[in-house]
Amino acid sequence: MSLEIPDRVLAAAANRPETVGKEVHLRGWIHRTRSSGGILFLLVKDASGQIQVTARKDLLGAEAFARAEKALVESAVEVEGTVHADPRAPGGQEVRARRVEVVHAAEVFPIFSGQTEEFLLDHRHLSIRSAEMVATFRVKAEVMRAAREYLDQSGYWEMTPPILTGNAAEGGAEAFVLDYFGTPAYLSQTAQLYLEALLFPLEKVYAFTPSFRAEKSRTPRHLTEFTHLEAELAWADLEDNLRLQEGLVAHIAQRVAEARAADLRVLGRDPKDLRAIQAPFPRMRYEEAIRILAEKGFPITFGSDLGTAEERALTQDRAGPLFVTHFPKAVKAFYMLESPHDPRTVECADLLAPEGYGEIIGGSCRETDLERLTQRLTATGARPEDYAWYLDLRRYGSVPHAGFGLGIERVVRWIARREHIRDTTPFPRTPSRVTP
Ligand code: ATP
Ligand code: MG
Repeated sequence: MSLEIPDRVLAAAANRPETVGKEVHLRGWIHRTRSSGGILFLLVKDASGQIQVTARKDLLGAEAFARAEKALVESAVEVEGTVHADPRAPGGQEVRARRVEVVHAAEVFPIFSGQTEEFLLDHRHLSIRSAEMVATFRVKAEVMRAAREYLDQSGYWEMTPPILTGNAAEGGAEAFVLDYFGTPAYLSQTAQLYLEALLFPLEKVYAFTPSFRAEKSRTPRHLTEFTHLEAELAWADLEDNLRLQEGLVAHIAQRVAEARAADLRVLGRDPKDLRAIQAPFPRMRYEEAIRILAEKGFPITFGSDLGTAEERALTQDRAGPLFVTHFPKAVKAFYMLESPHDPRTVECADLLAPEGYGEIIGGSCRETDLERLTQRLTATGARPEDYAWYLDLRRYGSVPHAGFGLGIERVVRWIARREHIRDTTPFPRTPSRVTP
């Protein structure tokens, strides 16, 4: 038996001028309730939107009316009635009910306005019902759908690399260690090494995986668990890599502007801002970036990494993303290819989101020479034996290749204009929070 009712109408569909005069059967939750003089006013919401329901004691009967009148906010209800035009109702239509059934009478809902951020985070399982959260999660779903769509259409294969791994790929200090039947293992920080292995038979690969970083940085752009979209492409140089990234990000922006305009408005983002995101994106070399930053008064010299403040200074007045390329070797990962033009630097780029949001992608060409790769790895303090399988990839048909990692929550933070990255994900994991 199915619990679905064949003639159920969603609130958003009911709340349209075309449905005036029609009979509807609604299912949803009470968003607001008040009663006066034998008339009950319910604002009923479902996943699609909301509509006002009015119910009269003389039509419902005293008993059913009393049950509906007692039902608190967030109670689940079923309503049958007729749609009428009413300029006082939100959206312009209301349902005049002949039946209101309380499917579940909620207890007093603990979330209301003016509560502290900590309280709301402790009650995240309930606070995620807010209109802004719901709009953000729909935007995030659209971002991921658009990314898959772009990569699939560009001939990339989606892979499923492991999350449990014996290698701490980005440096041991920031990896979560766990006990794997008596041997230490790590939660993946990146799928890159595995994607590089898959690259040789498939040439174009990508993966969506959770990545974990045990970094205690309490910044508005770091989570300890985030959604990582990574891609690797064979026979590619830095320019090929940047073209893929800008195509991908522009496609995401266009799709979200088109498909989620109403959600974007709830979040205070004008869809026009996203329609303006078009490839190609400007490129700036690291040396140029530090020159600009020094002029702005930052105490920065060749060899310094760019932090949140520096990235903000470079992007706060921009309307579109910016690539910063050719960082010093010393601040980047061991597998990045040394630049043929300047051996102090590597063939890499960070993509910075506009309006001060900062890094959303880190990418590079990969070192393909076994000896140089081994040297660089050893210099990080790692033992080459631990990376034997990865080094093997440079023994059997190694080709020039490149790739990148994009933080989905970082992209959503920019697109949905969220102050803090934790509000781009339903159950954020930060150094001080692992529940609910
Ligand atoms: P940052 O310098 O901002 O810490 P990173 O250089 O460590 O970033 P990468 O290792 O290049 O980042 O990871 C690729 C992408 O993954 C980043 O561009 C970013 O979008 C995302 N990312 C990295 N760390 C985090 C994190 N702690 N929380 C959320 N997203 C992250
Ligand atoms: Mg980092």
